[in-house]
Amino acid sequence: MENEIYDIIIIGGGAAGLTAALYSARAGKSVLLLENTSFGGQISYSPEVENYPGFKSISGLDFSDRLLSQAVAAGAKTAFETALSVKCGEKFKTVTTDSGEHKCRAVIIAAGLKHRKIGLENEDRFTGKGISYCAVCDGSLFKNKRVAVYGGGNTAIEEALFLSDICESVTLIHRRNELRADNAEIKKLESKENIIYKLDCTVVSLNGESSLTSVTVKNSKTQKTEELKISALFTAIGQIPQNEAFKNIVKLDEYGFIESGEDCKTQTDGIFAAGDCRTKELRQLTTAVSDGAVAATAACKYTDLKNI
Ligand SMILES: Cc1cc2nc3c(=O)[nH]c(=O)nc-3n(C[C@H](O)[C@H](O)[C@H](O)COP(=O)(O)OP(=O)(O)OC[C@H]3O[C@@H](n4cnc5c(N)ncnc54)[C@H](O)[C@@H]3O)c2cc1C
Repeated sequence: MENEIYDIIIIGGGAAGLTAALYSARAGKSVLLLENTSFGGQISYSPEVENYPGFKSISGLDFSDRLLSQAVAAGAKTAFETALSVKCGEKFKTVTTDSGEHKCRAVIIAAGLKHRKIGLENEDRFTGKGISYCAVCDGSLFKNKRVAVYGGGNTAIEEALFLSDICESVTLIHRRNELRADNAEIKKLESKENIIYKLDCTVVSLNGESSLTSVTVKNSKTQKTEELKISALFTAIGQIPQNEAFKNIVKLDEYGFIESGEDCKTQTDGIFAAGDCRTKELRQLTTAVSDGAVAATAACKYTDLKNI
């Protein structure tokens, strides 16, 4: 165990965590930022970001590199470690990782989420080339094109509704016979004229050379397969928040997101949540960096007020 006691430890080096690191370090706090995969998080997988204010277009990797170098230049220390647990002591908090233990005064959890994958060949290769996990992010790239949404829950319906205003048609592919979304959302969907339903269907292959050009679906009742020519498939079959390790220290909602308000405070004193890992309406870069700034400012105040 190292001797240094950090003011703030941030778990997760995505857009939220990197912004929190930047704000905390600029406020003169000692900061340790833990990341277990690659700095930048989800956005590193996006070839092109077109909705971040101030940048007409920027690659996800370039965006991530800029955030990381800005946070490091401000004085944040980084480490490639997986946070396994957080414990609150009388004075300090202890973050246990796969490499040891770190002590600090406040913790910001910014562990993000993972999108459930279909698990088919070509899925990774076509991500950003016809496969998307976010209609708000990528929908406008497929203006007036035929697209599909895979899923039947609220997220899938919201994606389909959003896309139906932009795209020529939206095929909604769902493995069950009924959608699992709120009635109000389903009614809105039914009022749209460009939605095509493929119920009782699963996607069995993702087709194309350098990008997605069609998907093959299989009907579980008839066992028949059909090729759908589409320019993009928006998958909405589940989001997996990365909060398992923290469920003993913060309250999680029924979907596994950390319960916290817009102030990014959790029910536990001195533990804050930022970005996609917390309950919120819109999970985007803008909201992640906003959370990072809010959580860092609150964490700085907490360490000052508590005079610890
Ligand atoms: C393919 C793709 C394209 C997208 N395109 C856009 C777009 O164009 N515009 C837009 O606004 N948004 C876009 N998004 C959404 C956007 O990327 C996210 O909303 C945003 O990146 C969330 O940032 P975050 O920091 O909260 O979480 P994440 O980016 O998920 O970062 C969390 C980080 O925490 C790390 N981590 C998790 N658990 C631990 C642990 N226990 N210990 C250490 N580290 C841990 C993870 O490895 C990860 O790096 C896109 C998402 C995807 C997947």
